[in-house]
This record gives sequence, C-alpha cells and structure tokens, in this order.
Amino acid sequence: MAGEPQADCLFCKIVSGDVPATIVRETETTVAFRDINPQAPCHVLVIPRAHYPDAASLAAGAPEVAADVLREAGEVAAGEQVDGQGYRLVFNTGAGAGQTVFHAHAHVLAGRGLAWPPG
Ligand code: 5GP
Ligand code: ZN
Repeated sequence: MAGEPQADCLFCKIVSGDVPATIVRETETTVAFRDINPQAPCHVLVIPRAHYPDAASLAAGAPEVAADVLREAGEVAAGEQVDGQGYRLVFNTGAGAGQTVFHAHAHVLAGRGLAWPPG
C-alpha cells in the first residue's frame, strides 16, 4: 500500500532506527539526517517517514507530508545557519537523474558556491 514501509528500503530502515544516521531534526511525519557522502559543507536529507518512491508520488499520495518535507528543509537550513547565504533543494527523480535511493528525499545543500545550471 502507498506509504507503507518497504523491507528492502534503506531510508525506511533509517526511519525505523534499524540503520543508524546522524539525525538533525525529527517531526511526526519527517526525519532529517546528514548525508553519509556529503557533497557540500551542509548536506542534509529530509525524508517523509512514509515510503513513497519519489517526490512526485509523495506529493500525489500525501500532499500534506510533501509540504512538511519542504517546511522541514527550510527549518534545517535555518538550523544550519545557511538560510542567509542561500541553499539548494534537490529532488533527484529517476536513475537517469542520479536517484539511487527510491524513498522520497530532499537534499539540502549549502556552504559552498553552487553552480547554475547544476551538473
Ligand atoms: P539520491 O542519489 O537518491 O538522490 O540520494 C541518496 C543519498 O543518500 C546520497 O546522497 C547518498 O550519499 C545518501 N546515502 C546513501 N546511503 C546512506 C546511508 O546509509 N546513510 C546516509 N546518511 N546517507 C546515505
Ligand atoms: Zn522507504
């Protein structure tokens, strides 16, 4: 069923605590934790507790939780004190765009020059 935990999903295991992570913030519906392979001085992932494979399916299936993820991304940026300098939110969607974990997540990236257009 949409939103149910998936046994083979790494981020569901982070939500359940079966896989450890450096948690930055938690809410009833979301978890934010540091990326294990940071691509910038600030690189935090914000995920819904519910399993949806990507951002668009999250928005379609649980729009209020999609909004929670976006709000939390802003709270992470404020907490990391990068909101003033600017930060980037990235939702890689599909293997061709670099998505490797198929549980919706926002990358919060900041702390270095962020090229535009992105690579
Ligand atoms: P994607 O490539 O799907 O957009 O992003 C997945 C992200 O998850 C990558 O940036 C990767 O470094 C991160 N990641 C993969 N495995 C782990 C893990 O076990 N723990 C944490 N904290 N991050 C992970
Ligand atoms: Zn999952």
